[in-house]
Amino acid sequence: MPSSFTERLARELAELKAQDLRRQLRCVEKVSGTEIVVDGRTLLNFSSNDYLGLASHPALQEAALRAARDFGFGATASRLICGTTLEHVRLEEELAAAKQTEAALFFSTGYAASSGVLSILMDRGDVILLDKLAHASLVDGARQSKATLRIFRHNDLNQLEEQLQWARKKFPQGTILIVTESIFSMDGDAAPLPEIIALKERYGALLFLDEAHAIGVRGAPMKRMGGLAGEFSLADKIDLQMGTLGKAVGAAGGYLCGSRLMIDYLLHRARSFMFSTAPPAPVAAAARAGIAIINSEEGEELAKQLWNNITFFQKAMRQTSQPSSAILPLLVGQEKTALAVAQQLWDLGFYVPAIRYPTVARGGARLRITLSSAHTRDAIEQLVAATEKLIFS
Ligand SMILES: *Cc1c(COP(=O)(O)O)cnc(C)c1O
Repeated sequence: MPSSFTERLARELAELKAQDLRRQLRCVEKVSGTEIVVDGRTLLNFSSNDYLGLASHPALQEAALRAARDFGFGATASRLICGTTLEHVRLEEELAAAKQTEAALFFSTGYAASSGVLSILMDRGDVILLDKLAHASLVDGARQSKATLRIFRHNDLNQLEEQLQWARKKFPQGTILIVTESIFSMDGDAAPLPEIIALKERYGALLFLDEAHAIGVRGAPMKRMGGLAGEFSLADKIDLQMGTLGKAVGAAGGYLCGSRLMIDYLLHRARSFMFSTAPPAPVAAAARAGIAIINSEEGEELAKQLWNNITFFQKAMRQTSQPSSAILPLLVGQEKTALAVAQQLWDLGFYVPAIRYPTVARGGARLRITLSSAHTRDAIEQLVAATEKLIFS
């Protein structure tokens, strides 16, 4: 590499450091439930999206082992060649049933599902309207699209309606796609789904809904794969329901659920699906086991336990707002302060990540606390005591 180039890389990293935006990978040496060992230290983990503790559930491990014996570990080719096993097919059937859609498509990751679909679905002369706080995978897909992109203020129905009116007038022949999350990944708040659907219907738009942090957590009892769409009985009004199997489901991979026509189209057009080796059959099998638990009495008990923990945390923090999810961020503002508090919590034995730009806006740094059904009350009490001392003193 020419030295001018290596100097450029080093300079950019130095600039990030000066702005408290340097990041580092932390190596987890061992996991046992909500305890993780990092750099030889045992920490209580309040950073994972394993909301129901399914990532270490024996049923998922056994399903993965069985599938590895039956199909091998690697899928060896893309889904459209020989990478689609019985595990993939069954998983897609079960996802479609849980989301009340005709069909489903399983991708290697949620990122691949969102970016792969949004980049190709809309064309020149169409419009994508995207919530300001939407996840990077949605932003990246929408930016790659040939459609015109407009960003509306977070959960702002008035501005969304203005943009719908504008789009209808400017592109009378075009298709309008609204893109948002049901539960926002860094704020933990919910989208006003019934109101967004009313607008979408009034203006004849389509809706793409990312339920990454809602499935397993929100939804009707025993049907929590349905997410917020299921909770409001609005699944049939949503054109594209997307999510990941790497969070509450405890496995990995992403999905897109919709009509049979939509799924058929995507498998001919979504390049992240077509030109990527299929996710391994053991991953699909583990996801199926996770979904089966979420649909069962056992899963419902876990979800209740999670909500008990969320309520307990809110009370202990003396927060009066009604929580929407298991994501309970403490806004700090300055990147430097967030890093310092995260480090102090670390020293006290808690892993709570400092979330900074570009994951959130500059000056919007926060400690992102996530709860799981597996956390004990004792652990939550300890965390609350520690954070109160650090943040409010
Ligand atoms: C995590 C996440 C994704 C990406 O899913 P992966 O399976 O992790 O790639 C997409 N959208 C949102 C809102 C997320 O939080």
